[in-house]
Amino acid sequence: MLVFNERKAIVSFLEPLIAQKKTIGFVPTMGALHDGHLSLLDKSLKENDVTVMSIFVNPTQFNNPEDLEKYPRNLESDVSKVEAFNKNVLIFAPSVSHIYKNNVTSENFDFDGLENQMEGKYRPGHFDGVGTIVKRLFEIIRPTNAYFGEKDFQQLQIVKKMVEKVNLPVNVIGCPIFREKSGLAMSSRNERLSKEAKEKATIIFKILKAGKKYFEEHSALATQSFVEKEFSKHQDFKLEYFDIAEEKTLLPCIRKSKKKKYRGFVAVFIEDIRLIDNIGL
Ligand code: AMP
Repeated sequence: MLVFNERKAIVSFLEPLIAQKKTIGFVPTMGALHDGHLSLLDKSLKENDVTVMSIFVNPTQFNNPEDLEKYPRNLESDVSKVEAFNKNVLIFAPSVSHIYKNNVTSENFDFDGLENQMEGKYRPGHFDGVGTIVKRLFEIIRPTNAYFGEKDFQQLQIVKKMVEKVNLPVNVIGCPIFREKSGLAMSSRNERLSKEAKEKATIIFKILKAGKKYFEEHSALATQSFVEKEFSKHQDFKLEYFDIAEEKTLLPCIRKSKKKKYRGFVAVFIEDIRLIDNIGL
């Protein structure tokens, strides 16, 4: 099992493979790995000659310092999980100073407005941080294919947009949301929930599914009210937003069109932990 901490070392390792035209699959993560991350890894292993997973808690994408501080980190256990899953995966786990030197700041990106909706509205600067780290990691790893979860659907669209705008030779591949049996979307942040809260959080997907059904017969606005009302019945939850948006542009759905694909997106606090989820409508 190879774990690289330095750019130079992984670049030297990958260079001859890239020269031999081997395909490189890349799965960027912030660690605290769960089966959702492993599902991305699985797809990459099947579709590429070489698979790299990065584990890096990226400070510039956190708008809330407490969230950054409390983000679960355990490299040793992450490496063991990957090793048990597949020993051929290469891990890249650099330090913050290695990636950012003394300048822990983001580049400014224009994602054609994708950055102004939902997560972008509530987490100022978040997507500049995401763009900055993904671009840097792509420059180091030079992947053929990069795998991102639909769990962070807006992030997936943002990365696709960045690749198009910066003109990077990477295929960005979206992967379905991996859920617990209970329906709760797997997330590293679930680790911070109490057992009770984790059980209560199963309501999120139930409400999303009810919202999907409601949307079949009602407008976006009515569905939004319906979902908000459903969440208000559960006092432990603080709903930040529920939005129905078009998948490609992420613009809010004003009037339904049969030609467009929509998704319902939710961000909700439970025990002060912010969870996000989404559903295709
Ligand atoms: P993170 O470590 O949370 O930054 O996530 C790393 C990658 O894994 C991102 O592309 C996420 O969208 C993806 N991911 C996280 N949770 C899930 C999940 N439950 N199902 C599928 N992909 C996921």
